[in-house]
Amino acid sequence: SKVFERKVVLITGGCSGIGRALVLRFAQAGARLVIVDIDSEGLEALLQYLRDHHNCDALGLHCDVADAGAVERVMAQVLERCGGIDVLINNAGITQRSRFADTPREVFERVMAVNYFGALYCTQAALPSLLARQGQVIVLSSLSGFVPLHYRAAYNASKHALHGLFDTLRHELEGSGVNVMLVCPGFTATDMHRNALEGDGAVQAQPALSIGKVASAQDVAEAIYRAALKRRSLLVLSNVGWRGQLLAR
Ligand code: NAD
Repeated sequence: SKVFERKVVLITGGCSGIGRALVLRFAQAGARLVIVDIDSEGLEALLQYLRDHHNCDALGLHCDVADAGAVERVMAQVLERCGGIDVLINNAGITQRSRFADTPREVFERVMAVNYFGALYCTQAALPSLLARQGQVIVLSSLSGFVPLHYRAAYNASKHALHGLFDTLRHELEGSGVNVMLVCPGFTATDMHRNALEGDGAVQAQPALSIGKVASAQDVAEAIYRAALKRRSLLVLSNVGWRGQLLAR
């Protein structure tokens, strides 16, 4: 498909896990990639890898998406250098695992700042361009945006908040030509759960393992790519015996 050929696709948190797999998938589709990440070293390494293995000259920009001023500056740079944005993928995210009572206020604030406000700032800055180009905004939520994971109050709250924000935005953008898609993956093997298959995390991974599948970042990226081609509004990837499929629309 040539749908994304030469389209400007901006991916936040593109240096690792699902974001990195999305970068590679959209590179394969011929997109012009903009990778925004807080990890400067990871960014350098990924740009080099794309040049060496995919003959792809991506634009990499260091940015903490939780910093509204930094997001504005980065978006202005993207508009200047690429002329606009066709697809914004709000993927950058962090997780947390602790009981509510043991979770410091700073952790609640940081998880909300990155996962929720990061996506909000990026979307607000990109929206004029997305409207002009009839583009798409894609948001990495999680099954935990529907069904809370145990001991992840901050993370669950941030993903629920994304649903409130982007379901409202989708409503406001009806008829504008801009598509809004929430993506809700189940347990996916990435650095986010570096130790999850050992020790404590094994308990959480158990339901996924019991049906014989933990998704890979590539599985999730491929599903997102295909859903973006069809401009879907919701993608639920249940690899866990939860209620995922029932919630698909
Ligand atoms: P990951 O930890 O492998 O990668 C996250 C990337 O985001 C990293 O490159 C990191 O440097 C970047 N990042 C973190 N904070 C940032 C900030 N403040 N500003 C800019 N970049 C920042 O994570 P992942 O597992 O690939 O998760 C990607 C998204 O998918 C997240 O939103 C996550 O909540 C969601 N998700 C993951 C899973 C899973 O099981 N891995 C399941 C459902 C949803």
